[in-house]
Amino acid sequence: GAAKTVPPIILGHEFSGIISETGKDAKSVKVGDRVCVDPNDMCGKCYYCRIGRKHFCENMIGIGTTINGGFAQYCKVSEKQVYKISDGISFEEAAMGEPVSCCLHGMDLAGVKAGDTVMIIGGGAIGQIMLQLAKISGASTIILIEPVKWKRELGYKLGADIAIDPIGENVEDKLRELEIEHIDVAIECVGLKNTMEDAIKYVSRGGTVMMFGLTDPECTIPLKPFDI
Ligand SMILES: [Zn+2]
Repeated sequence: GAAKTVPPIILGHEFSGIISETGKDAKSVKVGDRVCVDPNDMCGKCYYCRIGRKHFCENMIGIGTTINGGFAQYCKVSEKQVYKISDGISFEEAAMGEPVSCCLHGMDLAGVKAGDTVMIIGGGAIGQIMLQLAKISGASTIILIEPVKWKRELGYKLGADIAIDPIGENVEDKLRELEIEHIDVAIECVGLKNTMEDAIKYVSRGGTVMMFGLTDPECTIPLKPFDI
């Protein structure tokens, strides 16, 4: 995938830490507070912000993408972008707040419901989060498509019912062999042309495809309007 980041910028948009200094007007946090960060700082003034679709903000500041982020000892963020975390949450867990939030939004849009068969394409961090959320949402069969063995094994541990290696195995043959005829929701978590096409190919009639992976901005895929 790709995201527009022009060097030199300190990357890191999924992070947490301890407040070491506050601005004079900061009220909601104090030095020593443990916090995680929402890296997407929306303007609150553009058309999209005003209609409640802030993720389309035309003036978004991205901490770790358009301004310096979390791969550093210190990082300056505005007060409204930090969320206090309880002592029971580790910094590692808190840093996952951002990707889990993104996945939750995707899940809400995909509408996974009890009894669904869900296919997750890609077993990276996002795919593994999606897999767990699909499980919590009540999916009865979760299929993970992932070429790397340890990621397939992790998928099984986290709730996948079937993990298929798309390089070593023929996915369609495998699904037929397992008598899986319908995929209600296909979630693409890779961001490549082929895997985007696969998500559309494997989902059943009337099913839902969630294109979650970030493709290269120039990537295009052929689509038959008749199929939609
Ligand atoms: Zn805006």
